[in-house]
Amino acid sequence: RAKDNGKNNYQFFTPVMNTSSYERLTIENKLRRALEREEFILYYQPQVNVVTGRIIGAEALVRWQNPEIGLVPPDMFISLAEENGMIVPIGEWVLREACRQNSLWQRQGGTPISVAVNLSAMQFHQKNLTTLVARVLEETELQPCWLELEITETGIMKNAEAITTLNALKQMGIKLSIDDFGTGYSSLSHLKKFPLDKLKIDKSFVHDVTTNQDDTAIVSAIIGMARSLNLQVIAEGVETREQRDFLAANGCCEMQGYLFSKPVPAREFEHFVTTGEYRHP
Ligand code: C2E
Ligand code: MG
Ligand code: MG
Ligand code: MG
Repeated sequence: RAKDNGKNNYQFFTPVMNTSSYERLTIENKLRRALEREEFILYYQPQVNVVTGRIIGAEALVRWQNPEIGLVPPDMFISLAEENGMIVPIGEWVLREACRQNSLWQRQGGTPISVAVNLSAMQFHQKNLTTLVARVLEETELQPCWLELEITETGIMKNAEAITTLNALKQMGIKLSIDDFGTGYSSLSHLKKFPLDKLKIDKSFVHDVTTNQDDTAIVSAIIGMARSLNLQVIAEGVETREQRDFLAANGCCEMQGYLFSKPVPAREFEHFVTTGEYRHP
């Protein structure tokens, strides 16, 4: 699937490649330049607890402010960056920037929240990942408990060393969550072996959770599984009150989605941190 995405991305970039100044640059060079020119920006989306009405976290989501095409969403360049390895330096920038921002919010007196950073499989495979994370936390003066790393099931399963890495991160006090849960192929017995904190129910199941019997069953099963494995659970892609109410009634009180807020730049996110609350939609 990553390959297919890659093809689409090449098509996406064709018009840009034809413009004169970019003509001879490979996409890798473009991404490298984007990093040097500080063209990446993080948007933050609130994660809320609908029972307490409090903000519990922010997911950091990268965008590329391309001077020629405007704001480029991650689906347009992340899989490419994974193919050519640029995801490693980009991901390092994302990690540092997210930790810096969260640390700053806390020093400004905001309600402490955790910041969730997406890690791609390739970053997860890097030998020095734990060293890097430790260094970034130290540099940014963020306590490890306020950092959450989101990894996909495939990202974990592809890596034989995964347990060692996850244990080391866990030992540092970092929160670990499985992103897009339900779309991968992890088994219950596998899951039990990993020192995880949280499952994020993929938005594809949330979308029709109140209307499609299969999705109702899947979401209920994930919530039940999380409970029996003593894991926290959060639903992503919550767009309607009906979805919110169904999830809350079934024991999933932590949510993220357009119903509460789209991802927004740090400046626009600030009010969530200052008040610690969100407006009930
Ligand atoms: P993800 O980690 O599963 O992030 C959730 C995606 O769902 C985000 O898309 C978010 O904007 C979108 N979303 C949030 N609420 C709703 C909703 O209510 N409805 C719908 N339909 N969508 C919603 P975004 O920001 O375009 O990111 C897409 C994916 O790109 C992310 O999926 C993640 O896999 C990847 N990504 C984003 N930032 C990074 C990054 O810094 N590093 C890596 N490795 N991957 C990233
Ligand atoms: Mg994510
Ligand atoms: Mg997700
Ligand atoms: Mg996703």
